[in-house]
Amino acid sequence: MYEHLERLDKYMLLEGKVAVVTGAGRGIGRGIALALAREGAMVVVNYNGSADRAAEVVRSIEEGGGKAAAVQCNVSDFEAAKEFYANIVKEYGKIDILVNNAGITKDNLIMKMSEQEFQSVVQTNLAGTFHGVKFVSRPMMKQRYGRIINIASVAGVTGNVGQANYSASKAGVIGLTKATAKELAPRNITVNAIAPGFVETEMTDVLSDSVKEAAVATIPLGKFGQVEDIAEAVVFLASDRAKYITGQVLCIDGGIAM
Ligand code: NAP
Repeated sequence: MYEHLERLDKYMLLEGKVAVVTGAGRGIGRGIALALAREGAMVVVNYNGSADRAAEVVRSIEEGGGKAAAVQCNVSDFEAAKEFYANIVKEYGKIDILVNNAGITKDNLIMKMSEQEFQSVVQTNLAGTFHGVKFVSRPMMKQRYGRIINIASVAGVTGNVGQANYSASKAGVIGLTKATAKELAPRNITVNAIAPGFVETEMTDVLSDSVKEAAVATIPLGKFGQVEDIAEAVVFLASDRAKYITGQVLCIDGGIAM
């Protein structure tokens, strides 16, 4: 590298790679799936309930000349996740890139938060990520290559009112990222987290106008982010350009957490 000027449009960054994106039927996951496919990766578009939307993502990738398949799995379920990842390895021979994107919110003030609201958010966001990292670690270790990108949140870095469950789950994802980055580094597997701020998706659509206005007031760049702001960073971290980066938390939040 850097021995001569390379034209970037001559090749794709992820040709020949097999990528899995959880929760890729809509929102940020959808954008990540499209961006990885654009760079040549074969993408497994995971969904839980959104079968039609996952099929639409696969169609758009195929129409653009890429390769993808939609596969259902509730990633919060240990046994279901075990079977999901094993089947992908059986079908495609390997997993090079895993993006743990699936996530939910169930916002409430701590005083009113039910056990179910706490547990379901932790089970999906944190345990779902644990399942992914755990079940790809063996095949990635065997091939001595892997890129794992966990979608955390700025709420896991700074905390957020009404989101004790969500902030705890995402802070957990950050701890999981750092511990597994250390464990897996000797086998050439990098594990990084991205901590988005407010991104325009269905997750933030539900916020009232007054909450959105108050949120914008805390963002130095003065606006919500777009799905592609996250997706392009995932492409970078998944590529060999980021081969010496591991255990990091990249806040993509318009400056909230600085
Ligand atoms: P979204 O539009 O609400 O989409 C959530 C996605 O997660 C859906 O594709 C959903 O799949 C999937 N999912 C939920 N539970 C699942 C499960 N048990 N198994 C498999 N998939 C499951 O959310 P988003 O805004 O795109 O968020 C994506 C990620 O970014 C989440 O981890 C979120 O916490 C994080 N994030 C978002 C923001 C933001 O402002 N939007 C900010 C910080 C972090 P189905 O539809 O198939 O059920």
